[in-house]
Amino acid sequence: MNDPFGIHLSLKNLGIHSTNLGSSTGLTWLDSGASYFSSDSPADGQLIAQVQGASEDTYEAIISQASVAFEKWRLVPAPHRGEIVREIGNSLREVKADLGKLVSYEMGKSYQEGLGEVQEMIDICDFAVGLSRQLYGLTMHSERPGHRMYEQWHPLGIVGIISAFNFPVAVWSWNAALAWVCGDVCIWKPSEKAPLSGIACQYIVAKIFAKHGFPEGVSNLIIGDYRIGELISHDSRVPLVSATGSTRMGKLVGKAVGERLGRSLLELGGNNAIIITEHADLDMAIRGALFGAVGTAGQRCTTTRRLIIQANVYEEVKSRLATAYSKLVIGNPLDEKNHVGPLIDQDAVKNYLIAIERVKAEGGKAVVEGGVLAGSGFESGCYVKPAIYEAENHFEIVQHETFAPILYLIKYENLQEAIALQNGVPQGLSSAIMTTNMREAEAFLSVAGSDCGIANVNIGTSGAEIGGAFGGEKETGGGRESGSDSWKAYMRRQTNTINYSSQLPLAQGIKFDI
Ligand code: NAD
Repeated sequence: MNDPFGIHLSLKNLGIHSTNLGSSTGLTWLDSGASYFSSDSPADGQLIAQVQGASEDTYEAIISQASVAFEKWRLVPAPHRGEIVREIGNSLREVKADLGKLVSYEMGKSYQEGLGEVQEMIDICDFAVGLSRQLYGLTMHSERPGHRMYEQWHPLGIVGIISAFNFPVAVWSWNAALAWVCGDVCIWKPSEKAPLSGIACQYIVAKIFAKHGFPEGVSNLIIGDYRIGELISHDSRVPLVSATGSTRMGKLVGKAVGERLGRSLLELGGNNAIIITEHADLDMAIRGALFGAVGTAGQRCTTTRRLIIQANVYEEVKSRLATAYSKLVIGNPLDEKNHVGPLIDQDAVKNYLIAIERVKAEGGKAVVEGGVLAGSGFESGCYVKPAIYEAENHFEIVQHETFAPILYLIKYENLQEAIALQNGVPQGLSSAIMTTNMREAEAFLSVAGSDCGIANVNIGTSGAEIGGAFGGEKETGGGRESGSDSWKAYMRRQTNTINYSSQLPLAQGIKFDI
């Protein structure tokens, strides 16, 4: 068999078969009786494997197994839970090449980015191990004599994780590794567009939990489309739903979870801009913009979608970008000489073409024209040309996130105007300024600066590290996950007051004597 990138060996190493029962409570894989659907690679259009979707009965079986496991898992001391997550991180180190390859082949990002995604999983496991000894609560001074006050953090229960196709494994691990050390159990519904990456992860972690006396229920996987997502978001047995995906999906999930007064952690679409000032180091600015706009074929939530460029350097940036784009090599993401891989599927290609039509209809001018690639190597029909258009920020299409490599150039005169343009979209995920001028950088970071969850100086908009809290404002959903104190979302806080005196004084000096 012709397999130049060794995909079949990687699939075998990861335990992926030609047909897979997609849903699992750990070591047990559940046959839902439902039909199978295909996972095709956008890289070459080939069928990778078949996966069975879950039924409502499967969902119920998973919820009840997870509930049982939680009763026991929450009693394991947090540092011991951390030890288990350490082993998960170590297993991921062993399979990094195979899992990175599967992610690349199933989703279409470059192999380097596939490896990077697995590295992020390893990093968050390491972070979670440390965190398992740092789930700190505060102590307070009581206003009443002989009293002590403090707060402590307890696990929530079942955490539902709904993830998007573009980070098929890392986003799950950001949630799961933290949730596990916090004492929660997880039910993961990966994107129906990248189910095999989820199945591979479940094989890896289930073995480790089993080794430590938890063969079932701490890590659960459920395969399906939005209907399974809806079951999770409406289910009051799932106190926290962490959902990553489009703003459209987030509004539905937020509403369903809100109606039952559950908690949601929403990580939704972005519309990220880089401001390039006249004081920018243009070599850095071009490199940052290029990777930001075309990396992952424009399918990152943090992809650079708008460049807001000072008028004095506008023409130079435009022409240097056009030159850089002309050198991009588009092709199979597993071939490391290629810079840009495919879009996820034909629907994404359609949306890309519609966006190009719209920007032109609204008055946009092509700097680098887009188009769909055909012919040898492009048989999947998912390869498109990264494109650049001059546009206005208020264009309707510019106000939307199109999940494809389309970059809009917008001109500005002064920094205040640039910041207003940068903030002048419904989304608020990532933002950046390219400048060597300290006053400009600080103005961008000030309270009157960027309104995004992420604001960078002399770095592009994509490529976050796990140590920081990740997420965005406005229609990006307001959630924070990964580093810093994001763990608090996965726990419930309890304030405890202990009276060690022989009196019973009331707070606020209230008298109630009889
Ligand atoms: P999508 O919204 O189509 O699907 C995401 C997930 O939500 C899938 O698992 C899907 O099955 C599920 N889903 C869809 N409708 C649902 C519903 N009504 N109820 C419950 N679940 C539902 O998104 P996608 O195309 O997979 O991913 C691309 C989007 O994700 C982009 O908008 C991107 O910006 C966003 N994203 C955001 C972040 C972030 O951290 N902010 C990270 C990655 C991707």
